[in-house]
Amino acid sequence: MSRPLTATIRFSALQHNYKLAKRLHGGLVLAIVKANAYGHGAVLCAKALDTLADGFGVASIEEAIQLREAGIDKPILLLEGWFEPSELALIQQYNLWTAMHSVAQITDIENAKLSKPLTLWVKIDSGMHRLGMCAETFRLAYDRLRNSNKVGKIVAMTHFSRADELDSQATPQQIERFNKAVAGLDVETSLCNSGGILAWPNGHSDWGRAGVMLYGGAGTHRVLSDWPLPVMNLDSKVMAVRDLPAGEPIGYGACFYTDRPTRVGVVACGYADGYPRAAPTGTPVLINGQRSRTLGRVSMDMLMVDLNDIPNADVGSTVRLWGEGLPASEVATAASTIDYELFCNVKRARLIYED
Ligand SMILES: *Cc1c(COP(=O)(O)O)cnc(C)c1O
Repeated sequence: MSRPLTATIRFSALQHNYKLAKRLHGGLVLAIVKANAYGHGAVLCAKALDTLADGFGVASIEEAIQLREAGIDKPILLLEGWFEPSELALIQQYNLWTAMHSVAQITDIENAKLSKPLTLWVKIDSGMHRLGMCAETFRLAYDRLRNSNKVGKIVAMTHFSRADELDSQATPQQIERFNKAVAGLDVETSLCNSGGILAWPNGHSDWGRAGVMLYGGAGTHRVLSDWPLPVMNLDSKVMAVRDLPAGEPIGYGACFYTDRPTRVGVVACGYADGYPRAAPTGTPVLINGQRSRTLGRVSMDMLMVDLNDIPNADVGSTVRLWGEGLPASEVATAASTIDYELFCNVKRARLIYED
């Protein structure tokens, strides 16, 4: 028998979540498949969404070319734009859309030999202060881009810094600043990531950009009855069992001592598989479908779980690390991180795809 760690990806849930994003946002929605579709497999996820999606978003030209070479011919947007001017030729060759985030990059476009007009998504900094131009700069850039005659459609885009915080005024402020920046210009608009799609209808516009919600992630509090479904089930098995008396340490650093006679299961999953090492004793797991908890430190290839109160648990019992019945966001919270990071970090698991 091989190592039993599997990540089962359910296409039906992925498709459900894309349709949910479309229904909530209206208009057009890019399916964001950067970072290997947040660890779910970019090519297969893009293929599963190909007939539904209005386009895809990736982080680099390499990610885009991988999709094109796999036969994806829907629009593909480079969310971070180009890193060097030489990429503009590839952007044309592979028929990609690209973001642009700074005035300095306009020169690259003016100097480029282009066979057809670029579709350009221009980033406006409405308050996150990561990439993008302020409103005044954007309006100057807009004129220069129009005068270059090298740009066709312009989509003005912005990104929210706190869309998952429902009680913050940051997102309404960003929406207001963005709307002022684009007022009266001939542009399409795009504001919302998953948090915006789920929680901020005033930000809905021509284009949504759905990332983590496609994978069942939920940075936001549950405000809707209809909610993204988990897509990945990360499962392993109990590979050994031991019965310890009270007062015995478990694992590296003796971070946990049994407080009662304890039946301990050793599970084939550790931080080298992407399970967060920061997950403390008490992080939830499902054993044979029943909730239990981790004990002691997570090792590289293994972690330990509490089998007291799980009748019939034994070597070979199924352990769900996250997925249906145990949202990754819950595990992430226990480990002081976010579900995005857990998904992206998954490795070594055998990937299984189901319709
Ligand atoms: C990654 C990314 C998204 C998707 O964000 P989620 O929070 O995962 O929905 C949207 N827009 C841009 C510019 C991104 O880089």
